[in-house]
Amino acid sequence: MTTTETARTADTQRTYDLDRSHVFHSWSAQGALDPMVITRAQGSYVWDDQGKKYLDFSSQMVNVNIGHQHPAVVQAIKDQADRICTIAPAHANDARSEAARLIAERAPEGLEKVFFTSGGAEAVENAVRMARLHTGRNKVLSTYRSYHGATSAAINLTGDPRRWANEFGNAGYVHFFGPFLYRSPFHSETQEQETERALAHLEQTIAFEGPGTIAAIVLETVPGTAGIMPPPPGYLAGVRELCDRHGIVYIADEVMSGFGRTGKWFAFEHYDVVPDLITFAKGVNSGYVPLGGVVLNNEIAATFDERVYPGGLTYSGHPLACAAAVGAITAMTDEGVIENAATLGEQVVGPRLATMAENHPVIGEVRGLGMFWALDLVIDRDTREPLAPYGGTSAAMGELIGAAKKSGLLVFSNYHRIHVVPPCTVTEAELTQGLDILDEVLHVADAHTTAGSNQR
Ligand code: PLP
Repeated sequence: MTTTETARTADTQRTYDLDRSHVFHSWSAQGALDPMVITRAQGSYVWDDQGKKYLDFSSQMVNVNIGHQHPAVVQAIKDQADRICTIAPAHANDARSEAARLIAERAPEGLEKVFFTSGGAEAVENAVRMARLHTGRNKVLSTYRSYHGATSAAINLTGDPRRWANEFGNAGYVHFFGPFLYRSPFHSETQEQETERALAHLEQTIAFEGPGTIAAIVLETVPGTAGIMPPPPGYLAGVRELCDRHGIVYIADEVMSGFGRTGKWFAFEHYDVVPDLITFAKGVNSGYVPLGGVVLNNEIAATFDERVYPGGLTYSGHPLACAAAVGAITAMTDEGVIENAATLGEQVVGPRLATMAENHPVIGEVRGLGMFWALDLVIDRDTREPLAPYGGTSAAMGELIGAAKKSGLLVFSNYHRIHVVPPCTVTEAELTQGLDILDEVLHVADAHTTAGSNQR
């Protein structure tokens, strides 16, 4: 990769120094932070303040589905800013109306209304509120190995260690195990067994929690941050059936998996199920302006025809964010971005990662679809011991991520996994370039495996 590196300028040094003095960052002990200063972004690339160019295989927070600085989205925001920057949620506004139409048009039949939020956690928060009010029940079920956001209901639903420090006597959040054959909680050996046993486990959880107390089951269609685990055939249909049987609202959290990431507008389209509520954010406008929301089915929406919906946000349906959504959805449709993610995922990323798995003992499993892939990295293929502990990191992971960055590749990592999640607009040449780098730097991690240390 060609990179032109220059020294940090006085301006970018100031950016860095002010960040360290005044910016309080997410999910971090502040003392040890050393953030990259990003000065430019275009398409699948970003540049740091020393002119070094990186291929963005992270899409930042897996949100820049349309790539950086897409001209149609930038123009839509500029045009909207010239017309009207903001207006209260109570008023009708052309950008908001049009964004709602475009989203509802892509949702399944019978889901026609959109409640807008400023991001994913607020979407989950409001979906849970709607389900509770609609059913008159309190409890909400979600899986271990999930992420739903950092606000109160969303973090309590979350099934990863970030929840642990946020549990302050919140009642009514129950976790269960979703299907995950590679690390099966049910000792399954086939996908069929995993589906059957995971559904039996959920059925029992519902029975023991009391079906009449459960408002909703919240599921990431394809759990994202927790490891990109496409559900086995029949699992989501089984969840739908259990929800129908017990009058439980099925909330599909499509915040990360929606809007093209899996090669469809919504990931549940792969599994032939229709949820009652859909939460979305990220890819809806690629995060150019913060936006999220809930798509409601007609029955739940009708609950609030006469009854007041007791929820709202100053920025619900913010015109700049909605204009960005209109620009992004229109461009994604016109330019075949969803099809690009599906085709290149199937023809380029999947096969190449499978070949890498043959050559790198550190790769325990390759999972994914569209532009949504994970490498499950292990110390030993037989024991499947992860390359970093649950909720932690390791020297091996640090070296691997550092080597990728040095070679001009930004990756999304979580514990012992590397996720391959470039923009859905990525080209075949860019994918090959990034996968070549990944192939090369994985040798660094191979050295930490039992196979690698035996070779030394
Ligand atoms: N739900 C899922 C599946 C997510 O991946 C995320 C964020 O990564 C959220 C909810 C929370 O979204 P936000 O960070 O916009 O609040």
